[in-house]
Amino acid sequence: MLDPVSTKPKQLQDYSQIAGEELLNEIRNLAAPLKDARILNINATAFGGGVAEILMSLVPLMQDIGLDATWQVIQGNDDFFNVTKASHNGLQGMQLPLTDSMKNTWKKYNQLNANRFEGEYDFIIVHDPQPAGLKFFLEDKGAQHWIWRCHIDTSHPNPDFWNFYAPYINTYENAIFTLKDYVGPGVAFKNLAIIPPTIDPLSEKNAPIPVETARATIASYGIDPDRPLVTQVSRFDPWKDPLGVIDAYRIVKLSIPDVQLALVGSMASDDPEGWYYLDKTTRHAGEDNDIHILHNFHGVGGYEVGCFQTASDVVIQKSTREGFGLVVTEALWKGVPVVGGNVGGIPLQILDGKTGYLVDTVEQCADRVQQLLKNPGLCTELGTAAREFVRTHFLTMHHLRNYLKLFQTIAGK
Ligand code: UDP
Repeated sequence: MLDPVSTKPKQLQDYSQIAGEELLNEIRNLAAPLKDARILNINATAFGGGVAEILMSLVPLMQDIGLDATWQVIQGNDDFFNVTKASHNGLQGMQLPLTDSMKNTWKKYNQLNANRFEGEYDFIIVHDPQPAGLKFFLEDKGAQHWIWRCHIDTSHPNPDFWNFYAPYINTYENAIFTLKDYVGPGVAFKNLAIIPPTIDPLSEKNAPIPVETARATIASYGIDPDRPLVTQVSRFDPWKDPLGVIDAYRIVKLSIPDVQLALVGSMASDDPEGWYYLDKTTRHAGEDNDIHILHNFHGVGGYEVGCFQTASDVVIQKSTREGFGLVVTEALWKGVPVVGGNVGGIPLQILDGKTGYLVDTVEQCADRVQQLLKNPGLCTELGTAAREFVRTHFLTMHHLRNYLKLFQTIAGK
């Protein structure tokens, strides 16, 4: 069997005040004909990164509405996760080689995980490229319906990587992408759903944290809560551009000398490159004591991330590729103004000048951050619009509704 992941129970009814009874009733009605449907989610890691974050809420909510939903993760060694991280980079467009030995490693671990697979399901949702070969190696056994869910930005892939993965992806009759632009050449699906990811407004990270509590928490990490704080929360990854964030902060510092920067990142078990990129970021920060680089090994977990987002004056997400960017959603939900890279799923969330600002360069990023830090009224205006936009578009309930609709379409109910 693949490794099961247990989740804390959640109740749909608890979300009625935030999401509204109408949406909850729609979910209950959609769920009724799917009662007891066996749904298995498979991905590469139970912790760190957006997919784990989503499944932690979606799976228990599916259970609460009567579905027999579960979550399992595949196993792999460092070699495998080095290949899958390179694949993640290649599929997002990085120029790097894909050797026969890398391909063989990926195939070997997908075959090994297929050998360990057990059970019979109505729907299996395979998340991202790491386990994408399972359906092929299981020769379609295990589920009546398979769905491949792509969370990454595959709008400009390195062709070597796309061409390798496409035949495996193409074995799936059903797929979910975040944006239509991400569906590359050579794949066709009977059912293709475009569904954006979402956040759980009641998770420990997103439930309201009083500002004073959040400020006290960040103070325990050496931040001065009485001085301006700019934060980026992200894995240490080239596409998140932490070095560009430091460069933008340095420009801001020239006109606002008090400003502090926090770079908060988790080290995911399927991301071996994280340590290398963390070192690079630390070197780039040099001896500046106003740059705080923190991660889960400093005890910064979900709640603390929520505190950083709540207590920041401005949040940056200066990605150069971004499947969606849950960290953007999380900050918008807290009513904090976000300056984000104009790429991938970020413009779905940041309506430029309405819910935040979109930027293409370090200089633009610095300009917008300065403008916001000098204008608290503007921060409040953008933050209020941002929170409402997330409430009406990007909550787990929207995700649940969209999944249920897709299950019904696939099953012909
Ligand atoms: N995250 C976290 N701790 C950290 C850094 C990130 O809990 O130190 C979470 C973050 O709050 C978000 C997710 O990991 O929920 C990252 O998702 P996103 O879509 O932004 O990026 P990904 O890592 O999937 O590329």
